This record gives sequence, structure tokens and C-alpha cells, in this order.
Amino acid sequence: MRTVRLPNGTQVPALGQGTWRMGEGQRSAAEEAACLRLGIDLGMTLIDTAEMYGDGAAEQVVAEAIAGQRDRVFLVSKVYPHNAGKKAAVLACESSLKRLKTDRIDLYLLHWRGSVPLAETVAVFEHLRREGKLRHWGVSNLDTDDMEELLGVPGGDACAANQVLYNPDHRGIEFDLLPWQAARGIPAMAYSPVGLGGRLLRNPALVAAAARHAATPAQIAIAWSLRRPDVISIPKAGSAGHVRENARAADIVLTAEDLAAIDTAFPPPRRKQPLAML
Ligand code: NAP
Repeated sequence: MRTVRLPNGTQVPALGQGTWRMGEGQRSAAEEAACLRLGIDLGMTLIDTAEMYGDGAAEQVVAEAIAGQRDRVFLVSKVYPHNAGKKAAVLACESSLKRLKTDRIDLYLLHWRGSVPLAETVAVFEHLRREGKLRHWGVSNLDTDDMEELLGVPGGDACAANQVLYNPDHRGIEFDLLPWQAARGIPAMAYSPVGLGGRLLRNPALVAAAARHAATPAQIAIAWSLRRPDVISIPKAGSAGHVRENARAADIVLTAEDLAAIDTAFPPPRRKQPLAML
């Protein structure tokens, strides 16, 4: 699996696995954990979860998936904005660690910006890092002006990643946020890279590129998100077929023809767009 470099030099897999909607009863927790385990075996050893997902139940699915193989996995979880204050974040992190049945989270993200000052969140993240409960911390759903502000607070320059919505249908971040992060060596984590499995996958440009690569539109969408060296992609899959398909997407290199056709269908941004989020 190709890797992406975090600012402190740590290498993480470019393609990982999402867990939103896991632990909510769509499928059994055992089935979902088996999917994540298959993904780990196929090299997608970065797993993204959050205290929000299934009210903690997704973290419990992750615990089942990583049992006995914690050291193979790069574990990402997220704290609610209302839990990102100096006392609440410690409790939230400890609750996540308990549900995840581990002693550390590899990357802990502020899920989106709320009313707690960024300086307070950074201070508590740094405290948790010194205690060994976090290895890195980062943010999610922060636009360029928020990122500027973050890097201006004491310790803010330790931010390891920003997780944002990114797929051909939502590529506004190419105008300013991605170049801003690239200039500072802060990778982006692309969420919803297959557009939640919906309309994006029926787009003729993706369907045609899929035919050229003997692949599926979902694989093309994932390969598209991975075409930059500074983007980590975290599709969520709930069936073994989707897991296998997504893992193979890491090997697809899109041609100039594919990229041009996708640009025609989904034009790159020509001006600043407000950050899109789900
Ligand atoms: P996504 O990964 O783009 O789409 C997931 C959906 O696509 C699921 O319904 C899945 O179905 C389907 N799918 C997966 N692989 C497929 C394939 N090969 N062919 C056809 N359909 C496929 O969307 P997402 O779950 O929103 O985003 C991914 C992860 O990013 C989340 O799980 C979560 O960890 C994270 N996320 C973060 C934020 C944030 O605010 N930070 C927001 C949204 C998501 P099955 O389940 O049936 O396989």
C-alpha cells in the first residue's frame, strides 16, 4: 500500500477504511468487524471512526476488528466539538479508548469546529499526547481561514491532518485549502470518496473510465481521490465484495484521458467555494 507522510514524518496508508453507519444495526457488528478485518488484511490498515458514529457503537465494532492486531492498525477517532474543551476532551478520549479497547489513538480529530476556542482544544490535545493517549492530533471540516487561525495558536502547528469531504462532485478544496495544506505538509483525509455510493457512481465519465480500466465507478472515484500524493482516502464498505473492490482501487492509475473526462463532468473550482461538509 502506498503511504502518505504526516508532518512529523510518520507514514500512514493512503487508503484506509471509514466506519460511519457501522454499529447501527444495518448489519451485525460481527459482519462489520469481519469487513474491517478483511480490509486490514488487504492493506487498508488505517481505520477512521468517531465517538459520534452509532453513539460509540462504531468504535466498539472497530475494537472487535482490531482485537489481537492493534499494532498493525493506524487508528483515527474524532471528538465532538462540544467535547473539545479542556475537561470534556479528556473524558471523551478516555471513553473512546475504553470502547476501542486500546491504550492509544493514533490520530484524534476535532470533528468540526464548535464554540470551544481552538487554543483550548489544542492545549488539551497536546496534554493527551504527552500522556501517551494520542500519538497525533488533527482536525476535520476546517476551511482555510480556520486552518490559518489554528496554526496561529500555541502548538497549533502540530496539526497532523484535516479530514474533509472530497470527491469529484465536491472538489472546491482544490482551489485553496488543498494547496494551503500541501505548502505546509499537512495531508488531507478525503471523506465520502465514493459519494456515499449514490449518484456519483452513475456519472458517465466515471462509468466510461471504469470500462477502460476493467474496474467499477467506485474504484475510479477512489483512484481519483488518491491521485494526489497528499490525500488519504477512507471509503466505508459494509460487504466483503465492496472491501475487496475498494482495496484494489489503490492500484489504479488514472490516465490523462480519464482525468480530462472527469474534469469536463465535474469542473475544477475557478474561485473560492465555501467548504462543503456532510
Ligand atoms: P463513502 O465511503 O463515500 O460511501 C459509503 C457508501 O458507499 C456505503 O453505503 C457503501 O455501501 C457504499 N460503497 C462502498 N464501497 C462501494 C463500492 N465499491 N461500490 C459501491 N458502493 C460502495 O461515504 P462515507 O461513509 O460518508 O465516508 C467514508 C468515511 O469517512 C466514513 O465512513 C467516515 O469514517 C468518514 N466521514 C467523516 C466525516 C467527517 O465529518 N469527518 C463525514 C462523513 C464521513 P456498503 O456499506 O453497502 O458497502
